[in-house]
Amino acid sequence: MKLYELTIAKAHRGLKKKEFSCLELTKSFLDRISNLDKKIFSFLTITPDIALSQAKKIDDWILQKREIPLLAGIPLAIKDNILVEGVRCTAASKILENYIAPYDATVVKRLKKLGVVILGKTNLDEFAMGSSTENSAYKVTHNPHDLNYIPGGSSGGSAAALTSNFCIFSLGSDTGGSIRQPASFCGVVGLKPTYGAVSRYGLISMASSLDQIGLITKTVEDTKIVFGAIKGKDSLDSTSVESKIRNQPYGESRATAKFEIRNCKVGVPKEYFIEGMDPAVEKIIKNSIKKFEDLGIKIKEISLPHTKYALAAYYIIMPSEVSANLARYDGIKYGFSKKKAQSLLNVYLESRGEGFGEEVRRRIMLGTYALSAGYYEAYYLRAQKVRTLIQEDFKKAFQKIDLILTPVSPTPAFKIGEKITDPLKMYLSDVFTIAVNLAGLPALSLPVGKVSNLPVGLQIIARPFEEDKIFEIGQMFEQI
Ligand code: GLN
Repeated sequence: MKLYELTIAKAHRGLKKKEFSCLELTKSFLDRISNLDKKIFSFLTITPDIALSQAKKIDDWILQKREIPLLAGIPLAIKDNILVEGVRCTAASKILENYIAPYDATVVKRLKKLGVVILGKTNLDEFAMGSSTENSAYKVTHNPHDLNYIPGGSSGGSAAALTSNFCIFSLGSDTGGSIRQPASFCGVVGLKPTYGAVSRYGLISMASSLDQIGLITKTVEDTKIVFGAIKGKDSLDSTSVESKIRNQPYGESRATAKFEIRNCKVGVPKEYFIEGMDPAVEKIIKNSIKKFEDLGIKIKEISLPHTKYALAAYYIIMPSEVSANLARYDGIKYGFSKKKAQSLLNVYLESRGEGFGEEVRRRIMLGTYALSAGYYEAYYLRAQKVRTLIQEDFKKAFQKIDLILTPVSPTPAFKIGEKITDPLKMYLSDVFTIAVNLAGLPALSLPVGKVSNLPVGLQIIARPFEEDKIFEIGQMFEQI
């Protein structure tokens, strides 16, 4: 096995046994990135100096016979909307072209403490708005399985980098599917944790009631390791909580004592098998569900009746929050500024007009409209009521079952350029992932098959803060 093919668990063992040094491990990734990323375009910034000095530090730890944590010396890539102190952070937007992060995001701080090696920052759709990584102001990332296809988005750079063996794991963010959908399209494991399970401090905000930092790995075992390292309460994010708290309204948790995965009940919602879905994807998903059944897990059809309103509610709530969050980019406080503008108002207008891309401007306008006097009740308020109904659907379902299985996306990856001129078509590719964000639940994308050479992911959804159940059933599948 090549060094760049290792999982976290295997790399850790190798480092401890001195089969290779951290410097060798890190260089194997840096070399691969410099040789091959010109075909994939997954990185926006590469940080070899930081990586090599972190690697040297870990080699010193090992030399001094210090007990090294599991993540010590493990090279990772970070989506370019998560701040790393002293490193450029663009959110793939021209408006942040020269923005240097003044502090570390809490997740980065926690990981640095454990001794990770930061290789660089990955491409995304501008401000994480998109499903294909084509909305970046800098480059289009390609799917490593077929370079004519998109890797998914918005964490497409993180998913493509991992799939190309440019890192051992990567960080992303998920507001409506941005970790799970690219993980599905690239054939890797992607986790969106429960809302609040991982601190959002230092994540560039898109839609704050939906945003969640998560991760992409090669195996569920690795997901468990990284999630364990980044989760937990952070005083800098008041929505973060300690993961052990279980939410009673979601039904009595069977996981408090010893959770017996074989005794767990799994629901498959009928609303997630819709017309227009690729029949080959449907077949792979149904086959994978059958495999769980063969292992003795009880599968039950369930109903989440408000699913059909999720996309519409999301595309009111998300742009409303976007319009408020992105008001801070005024050409004065951060990055790009149209200095030659005639007046202060023109500095604002021209900096925003030129600094933001088309999709970002579209969403700011939609959100401003939905929140404006006279329309607020008809759009925003109504969408929030629908959001509550969607949450209630899940609560009711989780009183009888422990986990939910669905497809991640109705199709495999699509071609570069195929949907970019038709925003509605693009939005529809999120139809199976956004209800999870609206309800704040944890969900994982697990690779379960391929349509020709394009991967397909199964979505595993759990009650809030029950990521452990997702990991157990996911690992069970990996062992088949
Ligand atoms: N694709 C969705 C959107 O465009 C989700 C984005 C995300 O999760 N950041 O909004």
